[in-house]
Amino acid sequence: MARIFCVANQKGGVGKTTTSVNLAAALHQAGQRTLLVDLDPQGNATMGSGVDKRALEKSVYHLLVGLAGLAEARTASPTGGFDILPANRDLAGAEVELVDLERREGRLRDALREFDADYDFVLIDCPPSLSMLTLNALCAAHGVIIPMQCEYYALEGLSDLVNTIKKVHANLNRDLKIIGLLRVMFDPRMTLQQQVSAQLEGHFGDKVFRAIVPRNVRLAEAPSHGIPGVVYDKSAKGAQAYMAFAEEMIERVKTL
Ligand code: ADP
Ligand code: MG
Repeated sequence: MARIFCVANQKGGVGKTTTSVNLAAALHQAGQRTLLVDLDPQGNATMGSGVDKRALEKSVYHLLVGLAGLAEARTASPTGGFDILPANRDLAGAEVELVDLERREGRLRDALREFDADYDFVLIDCPPSLSMLTLNALCAAHGVIIPMQCEYYALEGLSDLVNTIKKVHANLNRDLKIIGLLRVMFDPRMTLQQQVSAQLEGHFGDKVFRAIVPRNVRLAEAPSHGIPGVVYDKSAKGAQAYMAFAEEMIERVKTL
């Protein structure tokens, strides 16, 4: 059975896509059958996986509005090895079109269910909003991975997301839980980041992943080549952190 996780945080630029792409590639390298779903109309996860978003015949948009099945819409990442359900600007229209469809928040869940036996992990890269697209991701998922920077306002921003997750859990998806908080773009030289990191551990305990992803220029360079960071430069500190994170995820699903 596939374990489905969404990578969510309503803030932009916090490392959702970097986490989604690198975790997908690292899980694939660890022998896990992995599907990455790009659920952001910006298509950054698609491009970062080496798939040209401008040349898609079918995408996650077609899947959501019922114009294609997963088998037609998915493709393989040529650089990462995992399967990907790609996205581009078409997806922005889905937001409006979904409003008129029945069971609109369950479209992605229904579409993925058919392929449950094909994968060990399904990762969903969410857009930076708490929109109908994110709601589809939360309804489809068993768990949420929250990437965050250890900044002063990090905890404050978290409460909207946590409340949304609680509501979805109560009304739409009893399986949903927060799997963990992932500290990303971490700079250990900054005292403030160390303090916030310690606060997170105090507050959320073992919901905070042990792996910490440092700020690392190789991770930022990789997407412009269409290559996941863990493939682009395996020896870089950022890549190694995402490999460790993948191992932690593999361990953690055993306890779910
Ligand atoms: P989001 O998907 O939440 O908007 P991204 O993953 O696209 O965030 O990251 C935002 C920017 O930060 C991108 O330019 C990305 O390359 C860069 N970035 C992400 N993680 C790191 C990191 N650990 N070190 C350095 N740069 C990073
Ligand atoms: Mg993104």
